[in-house]
Amino acid sequence: MAADKVVSVLVPVAVAGAYTYKGPDDLAPGDIVEVPLGTRTTVGAVWDDPPDPEIGHNRLRAVEGRFDVPPLAADLRRFVDWVANYNLIARGMVLRSVLRAPGALEPENPLAGVRWTGEEPERMTAARRRVLDQLEGGLAWTRSGLAGAAGVSAGVVQGLLRGGVLETVDLPRPPLVPDPDPAYAHPQLNDDQAATATHLRGLVEASAYGVALLDGVTGSGKTEVYLEAVAAALERGKQVLVLVPEIALTAAFLDRFADRFGARPAEWHSEVAPRGRERCWRGVAEGKVRAVVGARSALYLPFRELGLVVVDEEHDLAYKQEDRGSYSARDMAVVRAHIAGFPVVLSSATPSIESRVNAEAGRYDHLQLRGRYKAAPLPSIEAIDMRVDGPERGSFLSPRLIGAAQEALAGGGQMLFFLNRRGYAPLTLCRTCGHRFQCPNCSTWLVEHRFRGVLQCHHCGHTERTPEACPACGDTESLVACGPGVERLAEEVAARFPEARRTVLSSDLAGGVARLRAELDAIAAGEVDIVIGTQLIAKGHNFPLLSAVGVVDADLGLAHGDLRAAERTYQLLSQVTGRAGRSGGESRALLQTYDPDNAVIRALVSGDRDAFYAREIEARRAAGMPPFARLAALIVSGPNRATAHGHATALRRSAPADADVLVLGPAEAPIAVLRGQHRFRLLARAPRGRNLQDYLRTWLAAAPPARGALRVTVDIDPQSFM
Ligand code: ADP
Ligand code: ZN
Repeated sequence: MAADKVVSVLVPVAVAGAYTYKGPDDLAPGDIVEVPLGTRTTVGAVWDDPPDPEIGHNRLRAVEGRFDVPPLAADLRRFVDWVANYNLIARGMVLRSVLRAPGALEPENPLAGVRWTGEEPERMTAARRRVLDQLEGGLAWTRSGLAGAAGVSAGVVQGLLRGGVLETVDLPRPPLVPDPDPAYAHPQLNDDQAATATHLRGLVEASAYGVALLDGVTGSGKTEVYLEAVAAALERGKQVLVLVPEIALTAAFLDRFADRFGARPAEWHSEVAPRGRERCWRGVAEGKVRAVVGARSALYLPFRELGLVVVDEEHDLAYKQEDRGSYSARDMAVVRAHIAGFPVVLSSATPSIESRVNAEAGRYDHLQLRGRYKAAPLPSIEAIDMRVDGPERGSFLSPRLIGAAQEALAGGGQMLFFLNRRGYAPLTLCRTCGHRFQCPNCSTWLVEHRFRGVLQCHHCGHTERTPEACPACGDTESLVACGPGVERLAEEVAARFPEARRTVLSSDLAGGVARLRAELDAIAAGEVDIVIGTQLIAKGHNFPLLSAVGVVDADLGLAHGDLRAAERTYQLLSQVTGRAGRSGGESRALLQTYDPDNAVIRALVSGDRDAFYAREIEARRAAGMPPFARLAALIVSGPNRATAHGHATALRRSAPADADVLVLGPAEAPIAVLRGQHRFRLLARAPRGRNLQDYLRTWLAAAPPARGALRVTVDIDPQSFM
């Protein structure tokens, strides 16, 4: 192998630049190769950067090998560069997200199979005859498949092999998933849906960049409609990616997809076993997998012919990766589409303010589905003013809410009590000395999980057994729970509705996704009367029998007062109340609140979504906040408060003066200590058109280096300010 060519290779480590190597003449950008790096060998990809001309040829190290996989396409390489540049992440780290399934680079082992040599066995038996009948015409089988089909034991097949009657052959592996068939089933769309589907089909057929915001109340048929865009892409021989925010939602989606296309899509998320991920990755790269449903990281799969991305529940915070290189998968989906020239569908019943503004400005097509399918009425929403109609002492449910639940159950419906708090109580304190249980690693209270007998921090996972006595004063039976979590709420519900079949759903549910799916199925099948749940049950699930929803603490999300508190609370409560009445019939939702005049509560009660968006968008505009300005955060963290604060202050001083850019902070994070790290935040704000990234790069280059255990992380378009 002549090693004459000089190439750049990007390697999946935290560096921005590519390294220069020599290799065979036919190396081309996108090729996945093995290269020496320091004292080890790593996988990398030949990149488009010009190689470093300074390094003498004799000093260049050689590419050690090339994998027999399709090269990373030019649009994917540009996407990697773009994501790195926009989010200030090292390019190598973005490449690492692409090369997530290293096993996929090796060819798959063929399956071991057997076929008939044509020889007759020395002694023929009925069982042997049945085996040979199955192999008639030169068919090959796996051993176990053959034994099963012939109805014989494995020993019979083994005996024929040993006697030379059968021989082994390599079988190709069956595909990971069968091809979806766009003509498998055609839905009967109503007029509104049909018009929207036609528009989406048009976008796909134009085979050009475009973004459609599919905006319609829960149950309006958004999924039904965007599956038509998927069909259009499949018909044109394109691959399709559907992003969902929560793994638990993929199960229902897989079935929905199979109903429409006769086959399930491939899955890509953290619950898929490594082997399955490798097959998905390679299938996508080779073009054998036509449709994928996945979590945000699926955006980095090496599609060959991607023709459509759907981002379901596009407003969901789960699309924002926060640690280790933060980025928004929703926004990056739009970027990938822009680079490769295909459309994106953003679907939501409660779009993000960003997407609504983009739609109103004409940058996105705004497709609205106004009513529920078959005109199933939306639930009527009422506020319960806790100041006048509050619960009796020691109770969390007001008489009106209890009455609504009784009515729902008496009418044969289901009731959902929603409380977005895991565990038994958010705070435990000692009545004798006032001691509060705090996390040793975070500035947060420990949450009691009575069922498991532990106190736990929901930020770092620290867990300790709930003690018998107060660790500060030693008093026993003095510890009291303050406030409710779902476990505590469940106690009250059990006392008030002893006959009802109840289930409590939160991410603490033992048994993982499989158990959650089983519980959701049980609810849908009517095996449960009362559901008590956190935001886990707010999203996407279809509960046909649910007729009433009670929001136990509608004010919970509004307390933080951060930039997105109103938007987030509106979205969450719309999603939760939207679970009710999905298959026709009267339904209602009740919001327990101490602030019934709050704009969010009023918007929910009046059902006037457009008014809510208009108001919230205006507030953002007036405050000069995103999306009318751009924000970026620099977060300084370290184990020592004074050092972290000192560095943040020094960083602030080194911010380049710029008439366009306003730098705020350093401010201590609302959760000041997280996992033992003290955190200070600087915020840079610039007008929309301004390249804030360039400013940040200049700033960071001029800043004093973060020494020792200090870390500075960049968060472009920050969503969370905790
Ligand atoms: P969304 O995604 O907007 O919440 P879905 O697509 O899940 O709405 O539709 C809500 C329910 O109505 C689903 O059970 C779906 O199967 C049904 N549905 C919606 N549109 C149609 C249609 N045109 N034909 C048959 N069923 C439909
Ligand atoms: Zn903690």
